[in-house]
Amino acid sequence: MKFDGRITIALSKGRIFKDTLPLLSHAGIIPIDDPETSRKLILDTNHPQIKLVIIRASDVPTYVQYGAADLGVAGKDVLLEHGGGGLYEPLDLQIAKCRLMVAGVKDAQLSENRLRIATKFVNSTRRHFATQGKQVEIIKLYGSMELAPLVGLSDLIVDVVDTGNTLKANGLMPLEHISDISSRLVVNKAAWKMKHKGITELVGALSMAVKERSTEGKNND
Ligand code: AMP
Repeated sequence: MKFDGRITIALSKGRIFKDTLPLLSHAGIIPIDDPETSRKLILDTNHPQIKLVIIRASDVPTYVQYGAADLGVAGKDVLLEHGGGGLYEPLDLQIAKCRLMVAGVKDAQLSENRLRIATKFVNSTRRHFATQGKQVEIIKLYGSMELAPLVGLSDLIVDVVDTGNTLKANGLMPLEHISDISSRLVVNKAAWKMKHKGITELVGALSMAVKERSTEGKNND
């Protein structure tokens, strides 16, 4: 496929990169460097016009919002926190699936008073408890949320859960489901207009890749 115009795609290392790679490859885009081994932050691809920028997952919406990248791949958890301003979200890539959940110590007696919730997902947590009419104190953490209730920092946590093994290993259990999460393709609103042809071709190709992957998955069931 031939893409017109220069296009920059923001991706984060790890799970998102690993799962996005086959979709990009299906759309004919192959990075020349491997971000897991290269220290480069801007990666060339086999398309001279298409570059990848490798950034922290939580920074992807910001780079795309400000047009520093035309497109990006970000988890819905990150997008819910960011708020989605300046972005279109045209495609659910159906990768890196997990659930945003409230979790706590197994069989713990929770106080009737204002609960303390430790989380990285401050906005989603506030919204979730507000819809229940509950006033909570939110403690912002940047990682290892599972530790907080074990050492008395919080009553509960809000975190993303996949298999549930991390919760279980720490004596925690999922209590409430907040949202299903998967990675989404996001597009800068101005780029969508200015680079419409290139971007719609790319979104179309990725959309086909997602559909074919899901058909392959069903056929393998
Ligand atoms: P698990 O033990 O499979 O439930 O995985 C839970 C841990 O992996 C949590 O600490 C999460 O931070 C992380 N995790 C699982 N799935 C995802 C995902 N799709 N995106 C980001 N982090 C994830």
